[in-house]
Amino acid sequence: SPFIIAIDGGAASGKSSTARALSERFNLLHVDTGSFYRAIAAELLRRKLTPDDLPAIRAALPEISLGTQVNGRTAHMKIGGRPIDTAEIRTPEVNATVARFAAIPEVRAALLTYQRGQADVARAHDLRGLVMEGRDIGSVIFPDADLRFFLDADPVKRAERRRKEGLMDKVAERDVLDNIRLRESAKGAIMIDSTNLDLPQVVEKISGIVAE
Ligand code: C5P
Repeated sequence: SPFIIAIDGGAASGKSSTARALSERFNLLHVDTGSFYRAIAAELLRRKLTPDDLPAIRAALPEISLGTQVNGRTAHMKIGGRPIDTAEIRTPEVNATVARFAAIPEVRAALLTYQRGQADVARAHDLRGLVMEGRDIGSVIFPDADLRFFLDADPVKRAERRRKEGLMDKVAERDVLDNIRLRESAKGAIMIDSTNLDLPQVVEKISGIVAE
């Protein structure tokens, strides 16, 4: 069976950079589930829907066919056969609405099997397993993951990191909307507080635990 590392944590907690580094080091598929929620949000926005249009969202979801393209060791979502690029899921409109779309049970249900299926994608690419990051990976998607981490950092520090990336994003507001899921995924996970650690130090710390 594939080797699975689950990494949960708040917005701009350093999950993506950490997961990417671990995927290289341990030959794992890097799966950023936030990018999946963002791709779905972008697609629903493209269809002129807002998070308030529940019946229309429910009707649209079954029409959206999902696929995966692997570039390097990273999984990218395809919608209707088209790979979704980074620029279109990092817009201010997506930043502002993704957490509200993600709070809709039908949106989460639509992504559940797709996310679990990433284990097969890893196998098909001869990778040893996967490192999946999000908000509910260790609690809902892969509760039996080999290792479950929760990345935490001071909110001020995280807002500062995101600003440095040059993106306007209300990190604290998203964390409020994501709060229930964050609390659940923190339970029983190995806590990594990155307030006073830089990326290489976080990667070293986690790698040491993985290699044990
Ligand atoms: O990870 P990122 O900040 O890009 O995720 C964008 C949004 O997608 C989060 O704020 C959250 O609302 C949603 N999300 C989620 N469950 C996940 C991953 C992301 O609800 N596993």
